[in-house]
Amino acid sequence: MTAKTGFVYSEEFMKYDFGLFHPMNQIRIKLTYELMKELGILDREEVMVSEPEAATSEQIQLIHSKDYVEMVRTVSDGKSTQGAFLFGLGSGDNPIFEDMYHASAVHTGAAIHATDMVTDGQVNHAFTPAGGLHHASRSRASGFCVFNDPAIAIKKLLVEGKVKRAAYVDIDAHHGDGVQALFYDSPEVLTISLHESGRYLFPGTGFENEVGTGDGKGFSVNVPLPTYTRDSSYIFAFNEIVPPLLESFKPDLILTQLGTDAHQSDPLTHLMIGTGTYERIAGTIHDLAHEICDGKWVGVGGGGYDPVVVPRIWTVIFSKMAGIELPDEVPDSWKSLCKKLAGEIPSDKLHDELEETEVAADVRALVGDVKKSVFPYHGLDFN
Ligand SMILES: [Zn+2]
Ligand SMILES: [Zn+2]
Repeated sequence: MTAKTGFVYSEEFMKYDFGLFHPMNQIRIKLTYELMKELGILDREEVMVSEPEAATSEQIQLIHSKDYVEMVRTVSDGKSTQGAFLFGLGSGDNPIFEDMYHASAVHTGAAIHATDMVTDGQVNHAFTPAGGLHHASRSRASGFCVFNDPAIAIKKLLVEGKVKRAAYVDIDAHHGDGVQALFYDSPEVLTISLHESGRYLFPGTGFENEVGTGDGKGFSVNVPLPTYTRDSSYIFAFNEIVPPLLESFKPDLILTQLGTDAHQSDPLTHLMIGTGTYERIAGTIHDLAHEICDGKWVGVGGGGYDPVVVPRIWTVIFSKMAGIELPDEVPDSWKSLCKKLAGEIPSDKLHDELEETEVAADVRALVGDVKKSVFPYHGLDFN
């Protein structure tokens, strides 16, 4: 096994485009690629850049119903819309656009490609800024998500026997409801989602009492954080919950949904973390992957709606994954590109200062409740 890390990228990611007035602007993906390129990351010998193919209809149907997949294909001509609304398509969140099917299949293909690179032994870890479309359910688009690429990639690994157990760790500010629901009764997939509480934010689910059902009881884990949760509290919650569960579950692979909308600058959410938290968390997952599953760690994208901040976060996470030290200065050439493509000037620094404060009492109490709800299923002490 080499010590390489995969970066899965395609210009076609930009085709997943809900239009000018929609918050999910894929310029953030393009600017991530450009920032990594300007920093010389993509030319390093530790990094293998690779292009995905679109997922096949059979692969998409590992998770989604045939009717839904056909409906997405039908509306992708940009003209037909009859019946689409029943599948969550054509709403304000999920407007129909031309070539929606192909664009969505490419995002799914990126998650599949990244997992294949890791399980086939080409690389230790792999990341794609695409995908992470964690809200889509079996027959419904939801929350900017058409096909649930993380669920499809995990299901494919299970069906092909490449893994027996997979852990899904979701740090997007929104609850990973789609992935949770699709594996809610399964003890083969441990889903852990840290997010802003559903009391305040879409999709309104992901409370600590949602722990799974049947054989899957204890294998769905939710950490619904209060609004304005900051670095120290977030890191505390993550460290108390995620490492013990992963160490006990012993997955064959860890797939992380790396939505960046918990960042303090994000316009859609109210969590307040900085790049330092993402760096810490990425470091912890990296260590856990080597300790538990021979390094098998795959990261996919997700939310994140400030187009000049998201690239900094994903770059920081990727550099942790690949073991690359980066300067703190953001290249001037990239700053100009941000101005040109996003109309915004980014921070001069790659990293935000990590805010070390007392852990908030409500977060401490929440962590206690989460442990009480799920740790007993794993034979873990919750006091
Ligand atoms: Zn490593
Ligand atoms: Zn989100």
